[in-house]
Amino acid sequence: MNFINETMIEEYLSDFNELYLNKEVISKLKSYKEEYVNHNDQNTAKNIWILEQVYKVIAHYIKAFRYLKQKKHYEAWCELDRSDIELSFLYNHIDRTNDKFKLEFISQKTKDLQLLFPYTHFLSREAIVQNWKCSICGNSITLRNRCSHQLGEIYNGEMCCRIAQDMKFEAFAIVTDPFDKYSVLMLGNQEYNYAILDRLMEVWENPFENWRLEKNYVIKTEYLNLKRNDTCPCLSMKKYKKCCMDTPKVYDSNPFYKVIFNNKQIPKEYNENITAGTWKNN
Ligand SMILES: [Zn+2]
Ligand SMILES: [Zn+2]
Repeated sequence: MNFINETMIEEYLSDFNELYLNKEVISKLKSYKEEYVNHNDQNTAKNIWILEQVYKVIAHYIKAFRYLKQKKHYEAWCELDRSDIELSFLYNHIDRTNDKFKLEFISQKTKDLQLLFPYTHFLSREAIVQNWKCSICGNSITLRNRCSHQLGEIYNGEMCCRIAQDMKFEAFAIVTDPFDKYSVLMLGNQEYNYAILDRLMEVWENPFENWRLEKNYVIKTEYLNLKRNDTCPCLSMKKYKKCCMDTPKVYDSNPFYKVIFNNKQIPKEYNENITAGTWKNN
């Protein structure tokens, strides 16, 4: 493909539904942007920054898909996280009602996929930053001393961010809702269970093909095959029908997800016999 201007790239990105992006796009966008910045056309330079971000979001997302096909689960997890972060930068600068780049789809699929990963615990870094710098002008930012650039705003086609200087690491903590999703806790003697993701990848043919998740709850083993008049297993000494029956107590607190493809015949056993749970049982 021969790109002659940014409009062509915009069309290319909005129609894109493949496994690999054309790498030429990034170098072309960079050179167009330089020209607009030289002419001080801030608006068009910003529009090109948007296209660069769209490219990054798609690139990380389809890379995650390819990693999942190769059963490189953790690598895929990190790509999904990157895609999500780039998307969050972009969302401050675009109109989300007009989803011409399928970003809402990518965002939804990223969330769905993250739910299917078995990761539950993460390492969280606690650090003290002694000094911040503005990425646009390079000035030090302190409480008394600020530059004119606004965090997250686009200047000369680049997003303004703060660069941490002199970081001092304080501690690590184990958390369930981390700021850095890539810091998955790995235990040497345990293997994560990716059964449901692997099953999905047998059927999911293209990263832009849609499917949805159905949430189910599994009955705890002690509540299986109980009769109404049996003694309730929760040690209340009451009858099952007067105690836990028909309450959420009988279900495992971790939901179990079923993957549903709308427009595709898939084998009936597809969603059956998948072992849910965080760890692989040997
Ligand atoms: Zn600045
Ligand atoms: Zn009970």
